[in-house]
Amino acid sequence: MKHLLIQFHTDTISPQDDSVLTKYYNSIWEHEYYHKPDAFWELPKWAGELSHNLINANKEHEFMVLTEPIELNADIIFGSVLNINLELFKKLVIINWNKTFILGGYVNKHELDVFDNVIWFDSIFDYCNKTGIQYSGGVNWDIFRDEWCIPRITMSYGCKHRCKFCTIPNEIVEVPKHDIYSQVLALMPLKFNLVYIDDKTFGQCDNYRSLIKLEKVIFEFNKQFKGFVVQTTAPMVAKIDWTTLPVYAVEVGVETYNNSILKELRKPSSEVLVNTAHGILEKAGVKYIPNIVVGFLQENEATYSKTLNYIIRTNMLHANIYNLAIYDDADIAEDVNIDNSNDSNELESDKSYNSFEKNELNKSVIETMAQILLIKNNKL
Ligand code: SF4
Repeated sequence: MKHLLIQFHTDTISPQDDSVLTKYYNSIWEHEYYHKPDAFWELPKWAGELSHNLINANKEHEFMVLTEPIELNADIIFGSVLNINLELFKKLVIINWNKTFILGGYVNKHELDVFDNVIWFDSIFDYCNKTGIQYSGGVNWDIFRDEWCIPRITMSYGCKHRCKFCTIPNEIVEVPKHDIYSQVLALMPLKFNLVYIDDKTFGQCDNYRSLIKLEKVIFEFNKQFKGFVVQTTAPMVAKIDWTTLPVYAVEVGVETYNNSILKELRKPSSEVLVNTAHGILEKAGVKYIPNIVVGFLQENEATYSKTLNYIIRTNMLHANIYNLAIYDDADIAEDVNIDNSNDSNELESDKSYNSFEKNELNKSVIETMAQILLIKNNKL
């Protein structure tokens, strides 16, 4: 039986254009130590996790990148389906009508399980459980050997806060120490300078200080390691002694530089806290990356002007700028009628619940931010 794990190339699912936003997102990968695999924004975790379990079940398999739906030489094909690649998967399933597809992902499963050759599983655990494979947590990155990237590890799940636009469960679950070390050792086949800590609010879980030991372990097999990138809130920045941690950059949830909007969003932050966080990181020699969200319902030209001004005058490595994405289970979903996939797509400015004028304003603001950041980073 030939098992194939497939993923569509990023350029196939979101073709490159010459918009200022695409130019900006691409420019981030020109920073020193920022490496992106050729075929995707980041290594597909589902493939690493599945590969790990297929090895344990003695099932030989290969990973393959597709640039279009084609006839495949395999018996069983695995894939992760998202809104952006759904139509490509439908074509692939039809072209390969005599092969079995084991699919999962983030779309309505009935879009695909209507095909006779598709079996849908809600997770890799679900697949293992129902097919008699003993599931074990972990990833095999050997299928991406020598790929330059910024790999991720997770030390905790959840966040204690309940921001209105967020769907992260608000219970902190600490990842056991041996799991964290397994994740670190699994990085050995990869090439990287930085490791991204996937914890939603770094510092909330007591194990954050173990970065000091993890750095030493990584350095044993990767002398090119430069440190970790973490994400957290502005008040949490003030609670941590960054001079003792091997952290290269911190992504801070700024979202919008407006006290009243932050308060309405229940964001544990303020203009003052954000400035304090920036000062602390700068003093500690840690790079600063604000996360900015465009499209909150309360925003108008005046509030956007404050955030734009903040971006202009603040020293930063870059900013992560996204459109507001509203998911069904976020509290903010009660304030609007979300009725199309753009509404939960952070790369799309056009939202069904906005007026034409508000969509146009949001689009022009995010483009202006990208333009400013490109100029600041001398990329224009
Ligand atoms: S602080 Fe961040 S992770 Fe926590 S609820 Fe707010 S947006 Fe979500």
